[in-house]
Amino acid sequence: MYRVLKFGGSSVASATNVSRVLDIVEQEARKGCVILVSSAISGCTDALLSGDPAQYREMEQRHADIVRRLFTGPEREALQQKLDELFRQMREAPSDETVTFGELFSTTILAAKLATEGYKTVWLDSRDMVVKGDEPKTYELIRAALSKQKADIFVAPGFICRDADGKVSTLGRGGSDYTAALYAAAVAADSLQIWTDVPGIMTANPKQVPAARTIPRMSYTAALEMASHGAKVLYAPTVAPAMAAKIDIEVRNSFVPNGKYTVVNAEKDASRWIGVASEGGTIRLVGAADTQDVKRPEPDGKEVIFRALEEAGIQARSIKKDGNSFVISVRESVLEQALRAIHRSFFQEIPIQDVPLFVAGDGAVAQALLQMVRQSAGTVKERTGKHLRVVGRANSLRYGIDLGGQPVIGSEGDYIDAILKVAPKGSVFVDATNSKTLYKRYADLLQAGIGIVSSNRRSFAIPYAEYAAMQVAARENGAMLRYETTVGAALPILESISRGANSCDEVLSIEAVVSCTLNQILSEYQSGGESFAAMVKRAAEAGLTEPDPRVDLGGQDALRKLLILSREAGVRLEEGQVEVTPVVPETLMQGSIGQFYEKLESYEPNWAQQAQEAARQGFRQRFVAWLEKTPEGFRAGIGLRNVPPVHPAYYLRGTENAIIVRSAFHPYPLVIQGPGEGAREAASSILNDILR
Ligand code: ASP
Ligand code: MG
Repeated sequence: MYRVLKFGGSSVASATNVSRVLDIVEQEARKGCVILVSSAISGCTDALLSGDPAQYREMEQRHADIVRRLFTGPEREALQQKLDELFRQMREAPSDETVTFGELFSTTILAAKLATEGYKTVWLDSRDMVVKGDEPKTYELIRAALSKQKADIFVAPGFICRDADGKVSTLGRGGSDYTAALYAAAVAADSLQIWTDVPGIMTANPKQVPAARTIPRMSYTAALEMASHGAKVLYAPTVAPAMAAKIDIEVRNSFVPNGKYTVVNAEKDASRWIGVASEGGTIRLVGAADTQDVKRPEPDGKEVIFRALEEAGIQARSIKKDGNSFVISVRESVLEQALRAIHRSFFQEIPIQDVPLFVAGDGAVAQALLQMVRQSAGTVKERTGKHLRVVGRANSLRYGIDLGGQPVIGSEGDYIDAILKVAPKGSVFVDATNSKTLYKRYADLLQAGIGIVSSNRRSFAIPYAEYAAMQVAARENGAMLRYETTVGAALPILESISRGANSCDEVLSIEAVVSCTLNQILSEYQSGGESFAAMVKRAAEAGLTEPDPRVDLGGQDALRKLLILSREAGVRLEEGQVEVTPVVPETLMQGSIGQFYEKLESYEPNWAQQAQEAARQGFRQRFVAWLEKTPEGFRAGIGLRNVPPVHPAYYLRGTENAIIVRSAFHPYPLVIQGPGEGAREAASSILNDILR
């Protein structure tokens, strides 16, 4: 039925702090009889040890201030007289006893305050109860004293005692914690609370390691090990009496009474590593004697420490095992850095974020993506903390979703509805299809907070109003909507344009050479060699064009890319505003695909002549999609252009893409050039969009 509460020096350092202590004590007094043990106010013990009269006077002043703020009238006067008397005694005491007065000052104030609040308060003289080095005798004296008197709250000074010869003495610096444990053990207290100025025992000293966190529960052995090797939060001798009496030690923060705290008791520790403590240039990584998680294999601690220090550029003098702990010796000048590095490796796991992926499409891009996720999930998790897992797949006929329980299978048309029903938080939908209509469901997904990463450019080459609505849905729901892949595959084109737009740079013109197949054909064509028609057919058969190559030759594909580029630059371009001039005359493009190839073949002499003429003038033909700011507004078009050697697109090879952006900020254009095509490139672009 006793509850022992100990308050440290900073908890009673000012009138405001004392009020906080009183609140806590009053709460606890409702649950049982409180034994309140207190340290001297912070700085007092040091001041008394200094022997400096000026420091004594300063202390006297600080105590008087507290009294003045907490008391009024005759109570204030009576208490101040008592303190004056104590200060007088302190100045006259033998020099080795001076230090014992700090706790008398603080507890005298506390006891007086609790009495004025109406509690039956009894001040206990710890000097008559605590016998240094004799716990049985101490317990006997405490029990005798308590059985003789009744009180709501007993107030006892920490730290001070008598030695075996009866001379007044102390329990050592920080000894008030131990005083509290002695009182608790003597009366088999229900509760032992050490109230300090940090949130319990932490994985490191928070003053040295800002990322330190509270250890919610730990064993007596672990607490003893931390306390004995530099963790100042608890005085090491405190542990033994509590452990013998099987009393939990709660280490709490008096400044945040309902915040995080530590409970120390006899149970096994929850994890293999407890925390780091340091003394001088020595760091101790405290290990648990016994842990609850027996399954987890113990990583080679020494190796991990070594690597952590190496990454921080620190060379340890030595790393030695000591029982379940490691002792690391470093130069004192790098101590804090070393503490942080070791703490980071052992106690700061990056939180892993689950990223379930619902993939639509089973073409080359989707296949490459699935394989890439399979291959890279491990490294990605390590590098980014994101755990990618494909949980849904669909082709044009059916879908399957497997979230670990019962897999769900259905027909393609229901895929989105099924996703909306089951998608866990953080899910991403990947549109790797060529669907013309799938984008109509994007808003539903975004509204459910599901992110979308798309390589399907049809989804964005839609009327501007629909495009804008999609962006709003993404923004309002905090869901990602990314489609870097739709232009130039893995090239960071859209990102670069929107970075400019975001920082008030204004795009003045865009030239995009983004039709891979045409680039390849145009750059490889030689009059007299393979005919243009044959090259187109070969490319189509190799799967390099859209299934119907006329989509490429007619500029449809380039048009979609141009719409996306322009909108990314903040220009509300609509399809109808773009003047498209097909690579070959419109009349060739009509009819069946077979007829088209025939007509194209008979067009060969014209094509050859056109190519020769360009070459004669020193130009190369490139199929360019362009956007340009004019005094009348933006103009856009797509068509063949003869480019001179000074033009960045002149040297494009094979399926390379180039994009040239001129903007208001810079005299020279931004040029992005590189591989603009390929299933692997597209897949890697999708993956990076997911991770961005
Ligand atoms: N006042 C003493 C000290 O400063 C005892 C304690 O605070 O626990 O060491
Ligand atoms: Mg202390």
